[in-house]
Amino acid sequence: MSDKLNKHGLSRNIPEQVKREVRQQCGFGCVICGTAIAQYEHYEPDFAEATEHLAKGITLLCGACHDKVTRGFWSKQKVSEASKSPICIKRGHAIDAFDISFQHPLIRIGPATWINTSTILDVMGQTVLRIDPPEADGCPYRVSGVFSDDQTGNALVIDANEWKASASLWDVEVEGKTVTIRRKPRDIILRLVADPGKGITISKINLSYNGARLYGSDQTFSAEAPDGSKITLAAYTAEGCKTAISINQTSVIVGCCCNWGCTFPYEQAVREAESLGLSLIPSAPRRFLGI
Ligand SMILES: [Zn+2]
Repeated sequence: MSDKLNKHGLSRNIPEQVKREVRQQCGFGCVICGTAIAQYEHYEPDFAEATEHLAKGITLLCGACHDKVTRGFWSKQKVSEASKSPICIKRGHAIDAFDISFQHPLIRIGPATWINTSTILDVMGQTVLRIDPPEADGCPYRVSGVFSDDQTGNALVIDANEWKASASLWDVEVEGKTVTIRRKPRDIILRLVADPGKGITISKINLSYNGARLYGSDQTFSAEAPDGSKITLAAYTAEGCKTAISINQTSVIVGCCCNWGCTFPYEQAVREAESLGLSLIPSAPRRFLGI
């Protein structure tokens, strides 16, 4: 964003705390259509007349809605009315879509990568993330799932590449290709990075669901069952698994029922894990290795 000043000497840079207040009051999306990828817009007063950045005078508009207002096709009154009753608050979520390709998408969770794998995360009987084949020729693969947390409920729901973030969350921030969901200040529960046409990366996760936990970042990723069984992954690549990670009451299974065998460099991963002071304890090693 340009830091050009207006006639009152106000910079275009809106303080982070004010931006978050705006996101919260708008339900994390465009106040008119509900699109999650949106811009901050001064509307009461316009930026040219503003003397300070106040959340109550700033709203969220997506590129398309903003353009219609700028062209004068839609009135500023429409923006003002929508800002008083944002559509995301009314319907309970902001919405947007991933660009998934005609090739089987590649999913990364922290340092682990899954190729040609249909179910990515299965936790306590709920499919957290899965990939379905295209509905028809010329259509993309379909990523679907539900990221739930015992405290926040359904934080992010993905239905055939379309994602919905709950308007009741504390914060949902979309910056560039990254969606970050926070449970409270400095408490990120999910950070997804879109890799358009290729796949999705979960670069941060910290979710508890029915006694199971998923947590990690770019360096490590851990999956923990309610009884304490745990797998921590450092470097990992697997291909052709039926299910990448499955957690039930008493076990965590990684890379089960491989069709073509995993390419997981097990000894290398153990060395890397040890060098980081981490454990890498597959609960079902033979399945884990796809042997
Ligand atoms: Zn819009």
